Amino acid sequence: MHRRIFAPGALAAASLLLAIPASAASYTPGTPGIGDPYYPNYGNGGYDVSHYDLRLRYQPATDELDGTATILARTTQDLSRFDLDFLLDVSEVRVNGVKAAFAESGEHELEVTPKTPLAKGTAITVVVRYSGVPSTKTAYGFSTWHRTPDGAVAADEPEAAWWWYPSNDHPLDKATYDVSVAVPDGTQAISNGTLQSTSSKLGWTRYTWRQNKPQATYLTTLAVGRLDITTSTSEGGVPVVNAYSKDLGDNDGAARAGVERTGEIVDWLSGYLGPYPFGSAGGYVPNTTTGYALETQTRVYYSPRQFANGSNTSVVVHELAHQWYGDSVSLKGWKDIWINEGFARYAQWLWSEHEGEGTAQELADYVYASHPADDAFWTVAPGDPGPDNQFDIAVYDRGALAVQALRNEIGDDAFFAVLKGWPQEHAYANASVADFQRYAERVSGKPLAALFDTWLFQPVKPASAAAVAEAASVPVQPTSWKKIEATNDVHGH
Ligand SMILES: [Zn+2]
Repeated sequence: MHRRIFAPGALAAASLLLAIPASAASYTPGTPGIGDPYYPNYGNGGYDVSHYDLRLRYQPATDELDGTATILARTTQDLSRFDLDFLLDVSEVRVNGVKAAFAESGEHELEVTPKTPLAKGTAITVVVRYSGVPSTKTAYGFSTWHRTPDGAVAADEPEAAWWWYPSNDHPLDKATYDVSVAVPDGTQAISNGTLQSTSSKLGWTRYTWRQNKPQATYLTTLAVGRLDITTSTSEGGVPVVNAYSKDLGDNDGAARAGVERTGEIVDWLSGYLGPYPFGSAGGYVPNTTTGYALETQTRVYYSPRQFANGSNTSVVVHELAHQWYGDSVSLKGWKDIWINEGFARYAQWLWSEHEGEGTAQELADYVYASHPADDAFWTVAPGDPGPDNQFDIAVYDRGALAVQALRNEIGDDAFFAVLKGWPQEHAYANASVADFQRYAERVSGKPLAALFDTWLFQPVKPASAAAVAEAASVPVQPTSWKKIEATNDVHGH
C-alpha cells in the first residue's frame, strides 16, 4: 500500500519540478481571509477584484439558481492558488481561459488552483460556472438567503454573497458590477444601479443591471418576485427606481408612502453630506418576513414590517444616509462600523429636527439621560465593539451621541464641513475610525484624541457633560423618539 501511494507521488513531484520556473518558491496560496480580525475567513488574500459580471437564471418555483460569474482581478502576490467565498455547486472554473482545479474547503471557501502559477501584478479573468438551490446551503449553521412566496432576496450584512455569486467577500475589495438575471415571464429581477435592458425569450425575461461605481460585496443585492417597479427623477436630478412586491397587503400604502419619498430625502441629505455619489437611487420592499432594512447600494432593502405602523421616513433617511456613509465610503475593517451606523443614526436626528420633532441636541440629551451609569449600554465601545456587538444599539445611539459630542466640541461650522467633506475625501474607497478622527482634527484644527476616546472607546458612561446639555433629570422624550426606535431592527440576521 505504501509503495503504491508513494510511487505516483514521487512522479508528480518530479514533473512539478520540471513545470515550475526556478522562482517557484515564492508562489504561495492566497490566504483564506482578507485579514479582518472580526471575521478571519471573510474575503481572501492574494488578489483584488475590479469587476463582477454575473449572468444568472433563477426559477422561483424551485429556488434553482444557475449561471456564470466572470471576475476581473489582479494578483497582489505570486500566487499558486486563491480562494473565492461561495456556497453553490461549481461545475467549472477557468483562469485566463484555462481550466483550473477547484475544491471546497472551510465553511465557505472555493479553492482555485490555476494550471500555471500567477505572478504578482497579473491581470486575471476567472470564470465560474455554477448551479444550486441557495436555500439548501448554510455556513456556520445559518443562511441569509430569503425565499418569498414568489421569489427570493439576497440582502444581509456582513454576509449575503455566498448564496448567489462567488466573490472576495469583504468591503476592502470593492468592484463594479453587471448583474443580468433571467426569470420566468411575469416575474421581475431587481439589483443595484441602473436597468440597462430587459428582453424576453421562450418564457424567460432577462433583466440587466449595471453598477458603475465601486460596490462592496455585501451591498450587492438581488431580488426576484412579482414586483411593481416605479421610476422618477428627484428635483436635484437623481434618477430613482423603486420596487414593491405586489403582495404587501395592508403594508402596501405605508411602504409606498415611505419609499416614494426617496428622491426628496436624497436631495435633502445632499445638503448635509454633499453631492449624491451614485447614478441612481431607490429602494425595494419584497414580501419577506424579516424585520430589518439594509443600505444595499443605490437600491435599499426594506422589510414590509418597517411599515407596519404606517409610513416611516426615518428608516428611509437612515438607509439613504448610508449611501454616503458606508457605501461610497466603506469601512476598512468591520470594527469601523461606527463610520456607518453612528452617522446614519445621526442623519435620523437631523431629519427629526427638520420635521420639528426634536433637535439633535434634544435626542442626544435623551439618550445620555436614559441610560444610567450602570447600564450595559455604556460597556459597548462603538469605536471597536467586537463582532458580537457589531450591531448593538449602543453602536447606533451612543454612536450618534459621539457625533453630537464632536459637533459641540468643534462648533457647527467645522462640524458641518466635516460631515460634508468626509464622503468626498474618501469617495468610492475605504476608511477607518482613526482616519475620521484625523480628518476631523485637520478640518477643525483641534486635537480630538481625548474626545474620541471618551465617547467611542471607554467602556463607561462619559462623565463629561460638555457634549450634552446640563440636565438634572431625564429630559422629555422627543416626539421623533419612537419612530427612530422603530428603525432599530435595521440590521442583523
Ligand atoms: Zn444602518
